[in-house]
Amino acid sequence: MDSGNGLKTPITVAYGDGIGPEIMSAALRVLTEAGARVEFETIEIGKAVYERGFSSGIEPASWESLRRTKVFLKGPITTPQGGGFKSLNVTIRKSLGLYANVRPCVAYAPFIKTAHPQMNVVIVRENEEDLYAGIEHRQTDEVMQCLKLITRPGCERIVRYGFEYARSNQRKKVTCMTKDNIMKLTDGLFHRVFDEIGREYPDITQEHQIIDIGAARLADTPERFDVIVTTNLYGDIISDIAAQVAGSVGIAPSANIGASGAMFEAIHGSAPDIAGKDIANPSGILLAAVMMLAHIGQSDMAQKIHNAWLKTVEDGIHPADIYGEASVCRAGTQEFADAVIARLGQEPQTLNPVTYHTGIEGAEPKIADIIALDHTAREAKPAKKAKKDLVGVDVFLHWSDGTPEKLGGLLQSIPIDSLKLEMITNRGVKVFPNGLPETFCTDHWRCRFKATTTDGTICHSDILTILARITGIGLDFIKHESLCNFDGEPGYAMGQGQ
Ligand code: NAD
Repeated sequence: MDSGNGLKTPITVAYGDGIGPEIMSAALRVLTEAGARVEFETIEIGKAVYERGFSSGIEPASWESLRRTKVFLKGPITTPQGGGFKSLNVTIRKSLGLYANVRPCVAYAPFIKTAHPQMNVVIVRENEEDLYAGIEHRQTDEVMQCLKLITRPGCERIVRYGFEYARSNQRKKVTCMTKDNIMKLTDGLFHRVFDEIGREYPDITQEHQIIDIGAARLADTPERFDVIVTTNLYGDIISDIAAQVAGSVGIAPSANIGASGAMFEAIHGSAPDIAGKDIANPSGILLAAVMMLAHIGQSDMAQKIHNAWLKTVEDGIHPADIYGEASVCRAGTQEFADAVIARLGQEPQTLNPVTYHTGIEGAEPKIADIIALDHTAREAKPAKKAKKDLVGVDVFLHWSDGTPEKLGGLLQSIPIDSLKLEMITNRGVKVFPNGLPETFCTDHWRCRFKATTTDGTICHSDILTILARITGIGLDFIKHESLCNFDGEPGYAMGQGQ
């Protein structure tokens, strides 16, 4: 993407909220002084835009810049609390299809205090799916729902990105983290795809860990990890843990990569508690800008700035969040940027200097290659359309007029030939028939009806009939989920206690 002919690459820049303007101006000064061949186009995002009535925190005109430059350096923003506002980060990632979130978490011992001097982990987080699809509903007086969506193509491309990232960065191991012991269908799919695609990468050591013990080990022995690939929510959480364990959330960058653009940002938020004090660490956004320079093909600039940053850290010039025994000077935000600028062209003596031009440091797998690999894999093993049989329905009710037995009696009294009430669960636990009196029940009931037909299947009209009869006896249904078998395998989970 580097023009290579003296022309500057246009970059869309947003300063953001809280500490955003301070750290962004510090980072941009470093880029300018280094001679980065970039041209900044500034857009406004965040709090002020939300307050002007744009519920996603960005104005329509700003999309024009983003879609044209396809490269976004973004400061952190403050997402307003409460309903009516959508997360700008999620909107941008999803609208531009930035499906891979890459977060390197590296220790810089002995200069930045950490209990894990050998730590060098890259977290590759799926960026578009999972609970971050933002599909939430209030269903009853007492119950809210957030839909967790995991798709096979989504798993395939992030898992492949993880393996390709490992290969192009000469990393040896990829760890997959999920909670598939509980979420057997959604997280189970992610794990299965990891195993399937992993077979194409025999040169890379592979393992799967349940996210809870995986996160515990990441906090305790991060040096055992190399590349971690995981779903959106887990990746969000463990990358903050990893960044903090490495030294501080203030030093960790992230790249959001997709087929039609890329966004670079610090992993931390707008830190309102320290905004306007000139004490925030600009390293996260500066190292994100370094990832951006590598992405647009300016490896020379990425290397120059990264090495100057390492030398600054090595010289003990440290913002407050990383100030410790190895520090010589407690630098303010702008003072730290000045120190990096003064060291442009220098290399660290103790820490390893980085060499981007070899194509190893900051190497980014090409999305086009990943798409092509996906395509080849699909052609070699075309997805078979499964035989889908409708075998029942889960009907969700808003009801607070009595016991599970009373509700069970009401539903059993509904005359219908093709379906039979199999069970009722409350918050996933079976409460009818033969529930335990100790089980706490709220006003949200899942009532499972299964086919009684000889071939075990029903039609959609049977579902419409049962829903009509349920409303006919005065019950309030919120939604239904069809129960289907795919090639004879149930495409739905059992009730807990069933
Ligand atoms: P935060 O990351 O802003 O702050 C957490 C803690 O880390 C605070 O004590 C803060 O002072 C410190 N910290 C963060 N960045 C630092 C830096 N560069 N230098 C020194 N210390 C730093 O998280 P939060 O307080 O939970 O969130 C604040 C706001 O940021 C919220 O509105 C949240 O929605 C938003 N947020 C935005 C993004 C983003 O834009 N990408 C990411 C996370 C949170």
